[in-house]
Amino acid sequence: MTTFAFLGLGAMGAPMATHLAKHAHAHGHRTLVWNRTTTKAEAHASEHGSEVATLAQAARADFIFTCLPTSAEVDEVLNAMQPHLRPRAVWIDCTSGHPAAAVRQAGQLAAADVTFLDAPVSGGTAGAQAGRLTVMVGGDPSALAAARPHLAFAGKVEHVGRTGAGFAVKAVNNALLGVTLWATGEGLAVLGRAGVNLEAALSVINASSGRSNASENLIPQRVLTREFPPTFALGLLAKDAGIAVDLTQSVQGSAPVLAQVAALLRGAQRVVGAAADHTAALKLIETMNDQELR
Ligand code: NDP
Repeated sequence: MTTFAFLGLGAMGAPMATHLAKHAHAHGHRTLVWNRTTTKAEAHASEHGSEVATLAQAARADFIFTCLPTSAEVDEVLNAMQPHLRPRAVWIDCTSGHPAAAVRQAGQLAAADVTFLDAPVSGGTAGAQAGRLTVMVGGDPSALAAARPHLAFAGKVEHVGRTGAGFAVKAVNNALLGVTLWATGEGLAVLGRAGVNLEAALSVINASSGRSNASENLIPQRVLTREFPPTFALGLLAKDAGIAVDLTQSVQGSAPVLAQVAALLRGAQRVVGAAADHTAALKLIETMNDQELR
């Protein structure tokens, strides 16, 4: 019997752990769950047949999954679990973490004969609920081969390179999300001030070369409706863009547009709040232009 542990039952982690528990149940395996707020783990156990565990118990699992806000929280649980880890286990970190932290954490875990894979995900809460997430993995390919059959929450799984490469790809992907979201917001604010109907403008842009996920989905569904449903926090997107800036520095690259969007998202976070949905960043553009996007 294989034992899985899933740590961090947030907006992403809870539905991911649900797919893992279903997979475990179907194959006669066990799923342990841990969450800082224990009531969420208890609710998951009673609804999905997982088992509530302490960090020490979770550390004995064969496959340990984490989905926490940042690498700093992963450090906290890793340090607490280190003395209890099972040799030859695989730690799959689905946090959108920091590439430098991945290298450090992989080294720390190697001392306990545990292999670390950075395996952040994309697809949002809808993708997590559908079990169709894209997983970008850095680290040992043979550890990924062992883990692959158990990535029950995944649609696409891609090995992107050595340790830290998964986090690097995720950070750049989300910086690009920030760029398209922000730039499309700017463009629409200007068009709004020019008296153009924004739904008509988006209809044209979405049939033209300016389209993106921001123009096709995020802005029409979340901004123009004024709903801003909080599925992916602005503070987390600002964190991701900041990691892309750190990555740029670490390779002595030149990426001024990514740096600028990181600064803009951080500023928007200060103004509208870290917990607001990431699309609420456009409220700052609205203020800058005295133009509501509706
Ligand atoms: P949430 O804020 O919904 O959940 C965060 C989770 O981390 C909760 O389980 C929370 O526990 C736990 N946590 C927070 N602080 C600590 C701590 N100090 N120690 C232990 N546990 C802690 O975040 P998401 O699920 O949205 O995001 C998780 C990761 O996935 C992030 O790295 C994010 O960037 C990434 N991501 C998010 C996507 C999204 O659409 N939301 C899409 C793709 C990636 P508690 O319940 O006690 O608060």
